[in-house]
Amino acid sequence: MHTDPIGQPVSQGLGTSCVHAGRRELVNSGAHVPTLDLATTYPLPTVDDGGKSYEILATGGRPEGVASFVYSRLWNPTVDGFEQALAELEGCTDAVAFASGMAALTACVLATADAGCRHVIAVRPLYGGTDNLLTSSLLATEVTWCNAGQVGESIRPTTVLVVVESPANPTLEVLDIEGVASQCGDVPLLVDNTFATPILQQPARHGASLVLHSATKFIGGHSDVLGGVVACDAAWAARLRSVRAATGGVLHPFAAYLLHRGIQTLAVRVHAQQATAHRLASWLAEEATFAHRVYYPTLATEDNSGRPAQLRGSGCVLAFEVTGGFDAAAELANRCRVITHAVSLGGVGSLIEHPASLTHRFANADIRLPPGLLRLSVGLEDSDDLIEDLSQAARSLA
Ligand SMILES: *Cc1c(COP(=O)(O)O)cnc(C)c1O
Repeated sequence: MHTDPIGQPVSQGLGTSCVHAGRRELVNSGAHVPTLDLATTYPLPTVDDGGKSYEILATGGRPEGVASFVYSRLWNPTVDGFEQALAELEGCTDAVAFASGMAALTACVLATADAGCRHVIAVRPLYGGTDNLLTSSLLATEVTWCNAGQVGESIRPTTVLVVVESPANPTLEVLDIEGVASQCGDVPLLVDNTFATPILQQPARHGASLVLHSATKFIGGHSDVLGGVVACDAAWAARLRSVRAATGGVLHPFAAYLLHRGIQTLAVRVHAQQATAHRLASWLAEEATFAHRVYYPTLATEDNSGRPAQLRGSGCVLAFEVTGGFDAAAELANRCRVITHAVSLGGVGSLIEHPASLTHRFANADIRLPPGLLRLSVGLEDSDDLIEDLSQAARSLA
């Protein structure tokens, strides 16, 4: 039995947490599922009470004891329920939800101390949108790109954030989170945990200050809701909530409802999808003649020799290089029938895409992905059908 950051013993399994997290308060209200509160505004008992509530919520405080939620850009109880669930799964006291993963990342950068220019240290590869946002001047960031062992020596007095992703999008590099955290000193470490999910990895237990998810992916799990969330401590949560109130990148309550619903099956989905991903990765590496290199954490490759203990499984996403380069990869993606040719990942339906053309299009000038690389997000279909689909698509290649 270990303890979570609030010092409470954590004895229940992750499957149980998925089903019950963020629902404790429902018991007192007599409800079994979270309610969906769509109100944009809330009655104010008096001007004075309204003003006090506004003050607390707009500066990132929690609403315990406030007279009114005032306005739903400041607070929404359905969103709060989802946040509590995600925080619990990540072993954090708090979480703050946003309209998308990119809105969540934006808020994290804006919430850092502003030393005029924001110096950020980042390890590639990262999701293409993250790479692009950090590289752009939109948030006044200056980025030092380095490998996981050079984080410490790259820190400057103006460094506000270290950003890593593990396993990384799209080539599944895995890094040792504790090893990176130990180099960060006082600089906060943000870990994008979208690929692993809290079922396979809880970065806050290994020194991350901010654990970010594109909730659009595995947390929602059904490719029908866009959202982002950051698990963190109470002080970070207050900063992130005040940035969110000021900039407006809020999660819609219906999206929060769907995400909270999705969490209930997160563990079972991740384990089932991972089992199929594992079978596909082995088949691609050992039997499929159209693939000449497979990227998946348990398959040791040149740059990826094994899995640090922080990662309990290899996950549900893999990548592979199609023999024949770009043209063959493009054909293969087009000819899949059961697997959908589409960006995004983490849903119950398998998706295949060409990262250099799509998700990593703008980052590719710097990261130079192999031209024949395809990323495959493995869903809940039967593994025989996925293997047959890839086989038929490959058979019809010229
Ligand atoms: C998709 C993705 C994001 C961006 O999330 P959105 O919800 O699309 O804004 C960030 N990080 C990773 C690893 C992703 O896969």
